[in-house]
Amino acid sequence: MEIKAPRGTNDIMPDQAKSWYELEKKAVSLFERYGYGRIVTPTFENTALFERGIGESTEIVQKEMYTFTDKGGRSITLRPEGTAPVVRAYLEHNLSGQPMPVKLYYLGSMYRYERPQAGRCREFWQVGVEAIGSADPAIDAENILLLIHYLDYVGISDLKLLINSMGCEKCRPDFVSDIKKKLGKSKDLLCNDCKRRAEQNPLRVFDCKKSKCREALKKAPKISNYLCDSCSGHFDQVKSFLKEAKLSFEQDPWLVRGFDYYTKTTFEVISEELGAQNALGGGGRYDGLIEEFGGASTPAIGFAIGIERVLLALSKQQKKEKKMPGLQVFVIALGEKAKQKTFRLIYDLRKVGISADMDFQERSLKGQMKLANKRNAEFTVIIGSDELERNVCGIRNMEIGSQDEIELDKCVDWFEVNLCKKEQNIEKK
Ligand code: AMP
Repeated sequence: MEIKAPRGTNDIMPDQAKSWYELEKKAVSLFERYGYGRIVTPTFENTALFERGIGESTEIVQKEMYTFTDKGGRSITLRPEGTAPVVRAYLEHNLSGQPMPVKLYYLGSMYRYERPQAGRCREFWQVGVEAIGSADPAIDAENILLLIHYLDYVGISDLKLLINSMGCEKCRPDFVSDIKKKLGKSKDLLCNDCKRRAEQNPLRVFDCKKSKCREALKKAPKISNYLCDSCSGHFDQVKSFLKEAKLSFEQDPWLVRGFDYYTKTTFEVISEELGAQNALGGGGRYDGLIEEFGGASTPAIGFAIGIERVLLALSKQQKKEKKMPGLQVFVIALGEKAKQKTFRLIYDLRKVGISADMDFQERSLKGQMKLANKRNAEFTVIIGSDELERNVCGIRNMEIGSQDEIELDKCVDWFEVNLCKKEQNIEKK
């Protein structure tokens, strides 16, 4: 029997390990530059930590946790996320005595029983930060800035930042109760899971990807109309810090994210390159979580970035940027006699170090032109019967579209001079 790696897991092979290490190294250096210190927590925790922290009715707790009973009869869960374990460690090691905010970062593998697809795995890696102890909107903006800074630092372009405010325990209940009423009216549209969610925890309907459930939410009330003065003032300040840092963002009233612990600011960075699983990283404020775990009421905020998705976005970007290795000269021959001259010419060009090629499939003129384009040729040379008679060839610069006609015998010299000139110009830039 051939034993393969479990579904949704990946081996990181030596050719990938280098870029992997690079992403980790950059996370360490940047997070430390922003004042975060590393924390390493266990890969597994007591199940209750996640049930209480993430929320019993979330998709993660209900369907995605790798939970098992160990040999001592304890319920253990492979961590599906990094925030609850960091908060547990913060309390267990009495870090509240340190100057606030306590800034911690982690790198590690996470486990969720999801349907695997591109960018979605059952074991995946995250780098993330948590800033515990500050309610200042400036720390929300700093978190968002750091997330963007990291993605920019590793070389991802075309990012889109989405932000929202989830309100607090004062203003959210009215919103939740109105959502519940609204969903109650369109119950027939909802999937079985969402019918239950609409009753128990209506915000979780926002996590559902099914089109009918999304349809049901379309006319749902928006949280922005429910925020209390404190939450809307906080959100305004976060936005003004982001503007100060010249970060563009879009407000997304549906950005709820799949954890119950979020309060006030939530944010996510997406890349259009990635298709369905387009979130590279995200996070938010969780001002109630530390109290929920038995600590003093302590505001906090954090985010996590998925390493597999960052690598995927980078490879898609590189493919787009990198054209086929460019050919310098493609020689088009029309007719058998011209083909003989062409055969000789590409040999002479190659001898002096110029990459050159011709057609070997008896293509028409149009077909040869197409091939020259596909090969990204810098120049095409055309030799037809008329050119042969006059002992000349036509040269076309494919980038700027200019045409020259020169004697066939001077063709190699011409390319030596002109390609050399071009290289010198590129070096000067
Ligand atoms: P979350 O912990 O759900 O806030 O996710 C933070 C980031 O982790 C996401 O934006 C993704 O980049 C990544 N991520 C979450 N779930 C998965 C998964 N199943 N597979 C790969 N990456 C994931």
